[in-house]
Amino acid sequence: MHRHPPTRAIFLLVLLLAALPGLGRAAVRVFVTVQPQAWLAERVGGDVVGVETLVAPGQSPHTFEPRPHQVEQLMEADLFWRTGMPFEDAWLGKIRATNPRMAVLDAREGIDLLPEPHHGDDHGHVHGGSDPHLWTSPRVAKRMAAGLAQALARIDPAHSGQYAANLARLTADLDALDREIASTLEPLRGRRFLVFHPAWGYFADAYGLTQVAVERGGKEPGPKTLAQLADDARRSGIRTVFVQPQFSQRIAETLAAGIGGRVVVLDPLAKDYPESLRAAARALAEAESR
Ligand code: ZN
Repeated sequence: MHRHPPTRAIFLLVLLLAALPGLGRAAVRVFVTVQPQAWLAERVGGDVVGVETLVAPGQSPHTFEPRPHQVEQLMEADLFWRTGMPFEDAWLGKIRATNPRMAVLDAREGIDLLPEPHHGDDHGHVHGGSDPHLWTSPRVAKRMAAGLAQALARIDPAHSGQYAANLARLTADLDALDREIASTLEPLRGRRFLVFHPAWGYFADAYGLTQVAVERGGKEPGPKTLAQLADDARRSGIRTVFVQPQFSQRIAETLAAGIGGRVVVLDPLAKDYPESLRAAARALAEAESR
């Protein structure tokens, strides 16, 4: 076979340029709501997808509003992968109007949704709605990733084989993570745990646990609810109040002091998705063994 060194050199140069970060444009630009979704999207998209996250570290997706520069960037997005946070509904119409070609994938599609915990007031009025913290179960994350791979293949059919291969590897990793967490939490089956903001519903559901939220309808509980929570915790032998870094820890500390327990931080919004779930499982196992 004949070799053509100049052609080969140009080919290698093109390969090299394509591999350099920041050079060239990603084939597909995806926006996601929270960091764990970004981790999943980077795994499914590999090096042909550029991923941007709306809710920055430290921010709460419940009170978040996109910044003007993010709205501008969204105008160039190919896909918005939403999870069902209220701000998405508030902004989607505006963004769609300025970027009609952007596809929107709702991560809730095909998922057995859990009801929103205590989405009401102290008097027990419930307003419906579903729990938007889908990703805290690796089983749900797996289905979310499959939906994303399909959406990416529709937008960018040229790389569909790559998306399918990436998804297969990710699925195997999520299955292994699921088995690991299931074995860590097996001895705790049927137990309840206290958490300030109820972000762990799907996680609890996957491993036979029940989260008891301190927050009521997205707000700090009143003194009566707090006293009831403390009574209930004492009776059940619960000594740990889990909090997440994006929320005030004042009420959780008051409650922990009231039950002679302590506050432990878990982060359901961390970018290192598998490590945040592993850390949650370890912290729960440790809290129960004290
Ligand atoms: Zn939340």
